[in-house]
Amino acid sequence: MQRFKAYVEANRERFIEELSDLCRQPSISTQNVGIAEMAELVKAHFERLGAQVQVLQTGGPPAIFAETGQGERTLLCYNHYDVQPPDPLEEWHSPPFEPIIREGKLYARGVADNKGDLMARIQAVEAYLAVFGELPLRLRFFVEGEEETGSPHLAALAEQYADLLRADGCLWETGGKDEGERPTFHLGLKGDQYLELRCRGARSDLHSANAGLVPNPAWRLVWALSTMKDMQDRITIDGYREHVRPPTDEELAALERIPFADQAMRQAWGIDRFINGVEGTEALRVFLYEPTCTISGFRSGYIEEGSKTVLPSTAMVKLDLRLVPDLTPELALRLVREHLDRRGFQDIEVVSLGSLPAARSPLDAEIVEAAKAAAVAVYGHEPVIYPTHGGSGPMYYICQGLGTPGVMTGVGYPGINIHAPNENIRLSDYFEGILFVGELLRRFGGEEGI
Ligand SMILES: [Zn+2]
Repeated sequence: MQRFKAYVEANRERFIEELSDLCRQPSISTQNVGIAEMAELVKAHFERLGAQVQVLQTGGPPAIFAETGQGERTLLCYNHYDVQPPDPLEEWHSPPFEPIIREGKLYARGVADNKGDLMARIQAVEAYLAVFGELPLRLRFFVEGEEETGSPHLAALAEQYADLLRADGCLWETGGKDEGERPTFHLGLKGDQYLELRCRGARSDLHSANAGLVPNPAWRLVWALSTMKDMQDRITIDGYREHVRPPTDEELAALERIPFADQAMRQAWGIDRFINGVEGTEALRVFLYEPTCTISGFRSGYIEEGSKTVLPSTAMVKLDLRLVPDLTPELALRLVREHLDRRGFQDIEVVSLGSLPAARSPLDAEIVEAAKAAAVAVYGHEPVIYPTHGGSGPMYYICQGLGTPGVMTGVGYPGINIHAPNENIRLSDYFEGILFVGELLRRFGGEEGI
């Protein structure tokens, strides 16, 4: 540990400079700004480590694959080199692509999401090689350039390059410390099926005097929706709940150990109680283990100020279904379709606007054990382990889809402002993050702590 730490300390200024260089290069995937330049920069860093590098063409921004080291085990690091647009620019205290340190924090677009995580991993490998000569495992990096636009080519890429990407464990991006300064890992992400339900009535909007005769698509959607959830907020789509796996005893015990600030959440959001009055661990179970069916938007007829006596000809609702592992996006879509058909709503069109399968890794996976041990060694106490996350992401394609358990780790803290103005990381977290990756390489490679 001491030699590794000393190497990192000795190279502190250069490491900050290298991270700043990465942040100085804009790489906004949604606007196709700086993508080729950024891919080159990432490639050059891997080449400097002596890794074998391949540029994987996707049809969108290229993905960079790098491999180095030998050993029984293979570790895959997933990261992305693209960033969100920096707008609104006037809310930044310093220009988003001119990294600057203020009060121990490095400010720049992409420094937290997720160039800091990427660079900490690269520099940990450099330090490891400098101190120990070789890695104790085979290490693979997969760095995509379109995560911020929803990773549209990732599923196809993972299938095409399955042999390159398969590993014994994966370090996913994003993570860090919680409000109590505890290192926090998530072992999965929910899936998602985003739907539009569309209904048509007459050829055009009509005078509402005709409402006794002409079907109203808005009412039809309301009736259809009312069959999908009851007044206790239980999802009543036929067959939906049969695919919800309850948490195991181990998972429930893990939930009990999570300091879940549900009271503070209610206070911050200005609500007196959660749905059905759930609190504490039960609220956390609902949050992490239950699928959702959310009306995200509803459009029909006249919605401007004042009254207009109109019978609308179209109605549309946007439905966001957050999914759990056995409830795949394809299954959820089919269940919704069949549920509506069975009730005479064949006229309602169901269109998928995008989907992601859920990912969840076992609590006792070896990569989880290694991450725990590395966290104890670096941070001095047990990490908080979330068996999964309430949000969604493309983890499934790289992890569960290829049989690889994954852990989300990173150099963040609650004030990182990702996707927002003044994105930043704390340099102290960054350097601890490098030590963490060093420890993890050693432990997952089957050796004792550094
Ligand atoms: Zn992001």
